[in-house]
Amino acid sequence: MANLSMEKRAYKTITIGPDTFINPPYIKCPKCTKIGFGVSTIFNRDGYSRKCRFCLHHKSFKLPRLNKRVIYIDQMGISEMMKSLNPKITPERKAKVKSIWLALFNKLDKLVKLNLIICPDSNSHYQESLLWQPYYKALKMMYEHLSNGISFYDEDTIKRFQIDKNFKDFAQIKDDKKLSVHDITTDDINAWLGRFRISVEMGSFDNALVDDIKKERGQIHQFLASVYKRWLLEKNKTFNDWYREETDAYLPTLMKDYSFRLILTTMFRDLENIGMSEAESSDRITDYFKSGRLITTPYVMISAGLFASLARKASLGKKTLPTKGMVTDVKTIASLAPYCDAMLIDNECRAMLTEEPLKTKLKLDTAFFSQSNINDFIKYLDGIEKAASKKHLKTIGEVYGDNWGEPFVEMYDYEE
Ligand SMILES: [Zn+2]
Repeated sequence: MANLSMEKRAYKTITIGPDTFINPPYIKCPKCTKIGFGVSTIFNRDGYSRKCRFCLHHKSFKLPRLNKRVIYIDQMGISEMMKSLNPKITPERKAKVKSIWLALFNKLDKLVKLNLIICPDSNSHYQESLLWQPYYKALKMMYEHLSNGISFYDEDTIKRFQIDKNFKDFAQIKDDKKLSVHDITTDDINAWLGRFRISVEMGSFDNALVDDIKKERGQIHQFLASVYKRWLLEKNKTFNDWYREETDAYLPTLMKDYSFRLILTTMFRDLENIGMSEAESSDRITDYFKSGRLITTPYVMISAGLFASLARKASLGKKTLPTKGMVTDVKTIASLAPYCDAMLIDNECRAMLTEEPLKTKLKLDTAFFSQSNINDFIKYLDGIEKAASKKHLKTIGEVYGDNWGEPFVEMYDYEE
């Protein structure tokens, strides 16, 4: 059963009537002159309309194009913010949640409402939320609130797009467009935020899926643990040796993956579009895989770099095994980092990405934060707010009213 719920962003109650969807701020109606000319619809892309509560006169207005910063909040952040807001969390559990998470929620919520940032959700939010079943809905509510229902594509799709782009460059197929965040998100990240968001829950909770996710995670972690034990003993290798091992293993692994067929199909189509015969195309594609260019795609570079850094730490004597979530974290960072302005990730991954030799190797522009420097993250977000133009804030006031930016801390009060 599909289950629809409407999340109110700022107003507690809705009384249904002819003027239900006419919202403040009210200005003077150009027709009847009463102060009842409110906001009726916010069009995603380029405008909104006003309607009069009294005479129903209506008119459309243009809105400027937005340029939101893209911010990724990992599951730990989503979970801590949910716990700090949700009245169903036990007092013992709540006592362990640091107050900074509520401050972070208030800040993110405000900046999302001011149309300055967007925090798209990801496949890993979905999967990891499923694993904490009693709070699945509450977690989903949190990440969808901050994403406005916009998701990143899953990592296999992003990998595929990157490989195709990489191949087109190799085959000299003209494609000037750089792969951007707009290519890897399900909706327009720069759309003006609507006053309401409709959330759709398809089907009932699928226990088989949860079991599958748990099983897969267990297997992957076991594999990582066995590799880690080998790294602990490899005292004479350097970062570049492990990096090379990772990139050498990439193509053979990819060829076994179900997505490989799709990758090949896309390449054949690319070449067909420029009029190449099938025989010629086969040669060109083989040349591509022989050229070694595949390992210059961002996904391969970031994931190989992170694993090589882990290996380096192991050989330097870090005995503690990586966490169960490490492989998921690596996949998420490898697929999303090139498209995010900032990411809140776990401490260990942030340390590896911001230290040498990985920092120079990857040259990412992404600002990385984690729990251990969360105050810097808040400062970073403050900077985004301070940099907003007066004109932008004036438009926000016109469209949403003056109290719009107030945090939606009662998010869970509506939950049945
Ligand atoms: Zn009127």
